[in-house]
Amino acid sequence: MATVAAHNELNVYESAEARFEVAAKLLGLEEGLYKYLRYPNKEITVYIPVAMDNGHLEVFIGYRVHHSIVRGPCKGGIRFAPDVTLDEVRALAAWMTWKCAVVNIPFGGAKGGVICDPNKLSRGELERITRRYTAELSEWIGPERDVPAPDLGTNEQTMAWVMDTYSMHVRHTTTAVVTGKPLDLGGSHGRKEATGRGCQIVCDRALAKLGMKRENTRVIIQGFGNVGSMSAMLMHQAGYKIVGVADIYGALYNEKGFDIPALLDWVYAKHKPVPEFPAGGVKFFPQEILFQPCDILLPAAVENQITSQNAHRVQARILCEGANGPTTSPADEILEKKGVFVIPDILGNAGGVTVSYFEWVQDRQGFFWRESEVNERLQDVMEHSFDEVVRYAETHGVNNRIAAYMLAIDRVGFALKLRGIYA
Ligand code: NAD
Repeated sequence: MATVAAHNELNVYESAEARFEVAAKLLGLEEGLYKYLRYPNKEITVYIPVAMDNGHLEVFIGYRVHHSIVRGPCKGGIRFAPDVTLDEVRALAAWMTWKCAVVNIPFGGAKGGVICDPNKLSRGELERITRRYTAELSEWIGPERDVPAPDLGTNEQTMAWVMDTYSMHVRHTTTAVVTGKPLDLGGSHGRKEATGRGCQIVCDRALAKLGMKRENTRVIIQGFGNVGSMSAMLMHQAGYKIVGVADIYGALYNEKGFDIPALLDWVYAKHKPVPEFPAGGVKFFPQEILFQPCDILLPAAVENQITSQNAHRVQARILCEGANGPTTSPADEILEKKGVFVIPDILGNAGGVTVSYFEWVQDRQGFFWRESEVNERLQDVMEHSFDEVVRYAETHGVNNRIAAYMLAIDRVGFALKLRGIYA
């Protein structure tokens, strides 16, 4: 199984590498392909000068990593956060390659990030950071090259600025340069809900496999942003009981289940923190929610939440990873021994990139689909991908995470062999 020295456990790049190595070994990947796929294609660092509202000039550091263009243009989000590191962006870029291959969409993987705290910046400062970051990267992004999307700390508005800046540089409106845009600028119906909807679809599939019923299934969701809140809304509508919720300010547990529409209103209309929800429950620190009684645990916040130090405390039957990298590599072994059915991030949260792919297709054909068409196609992709990963795991006697990696590496490796190496 994956081996990462304990002191490196929280380095997401090393965690991603450890899984890659296990899967590549089990696949018997040729040494040359192993070397090729292990490293990113390109890493770009940009220094972003920004005139701050107070008149001072500040310089922010930004990254964009292209991990692979083997199966198509790079695809991956842009993260604005104070703790962004190149290692993190590298890991996230590699995960995008594997994720796109797991759901079999024609993209490679990329990721970007800017070291900044969006909560402490004005709208004007954020716009200037985004535009200069985009301008610096303008020759590396594009509908055929690299197609960014939102991630932590960025949103539809950020994507509108990226689209506009890129369009100004190439002198024509190019909506397909980013996904996750507002509907009025070439966005897709269903994109906002897509990652959460994908989580619900794979959870439904897991319940069917394990002989469980939605109405008896208690769910805990950590993170109440795009992924967490949309998962909560859709799973609540589908009959699941959401018993635990958390955001960065704290967590609430209520065994009777939350009134999710009221909680959405509290957080999104009233702009209040989750733990202060008046119809609440027992309060916890944000991470403690992961270890309360439930049937499905859905981390949808940040990396490194379930580690070798705490994985034994997870009580869930199913772990559906809405976030990227919420579980460290050493924690995988503990969860496996406990018999937790893991839906790994590169499958569990792939609904987002799948509908991003649909958005890119719609932008390029200039013809937009109804929401029901988007959702139906998403359902097809997620169900099929879930079944493929689980079948692969059973056939090869590995856990679902390693199966997803093996399936993905096999697909990318096969495409690479077909293309050959340009000398
Ligand atoms: P977001 O910024 O919309 O929301 C993040 C949420 O997590 C917020 O509610 C925040 O308060 C909470 N949070 C942050 N730190 C926390 C902590 N330590 N404990 C508890 N809660 C905490 O972000 P998002 O778009 O929902 O992304 C969440 C995760 O899902 C990230 O790992 C992201 O990479 C991944 N992801 C997002 C998408 C997407 O479509 N948005 C797609 C695939 C994967």
